Amino acid sequence: MPLNLEDYTCEFCGKTCKNIIYAAFVCDDPECIEKARVARGGPGGHMKRKAEGKPIIPTDLEPMVEENKKL
Ligand SMILES: [Zn+2]
Repeated sequence: MPLNLEDYTCEFCGKTCKNIIYAAFVCDDPECIEKARVARGGPGGHMKRKAEGKPIIPTDLEPMVEENKKL
């Protein structure tokens, strides 16, 4: 089932969600995308999570992220 991003809101400004960046719901505002990147620890953030033995992205978000990659 495709994820309807418009059912979600940006984690940072509350506008309609347009993207999933670093497993965060964000709008298309570059500032929010940057905030999502920083919130996840930057480009190496997922590796840090891996080193800590945590899943790279929350498992409940994984299918949504896969869906987003197809766009
Ligand atoms: Zn936003």
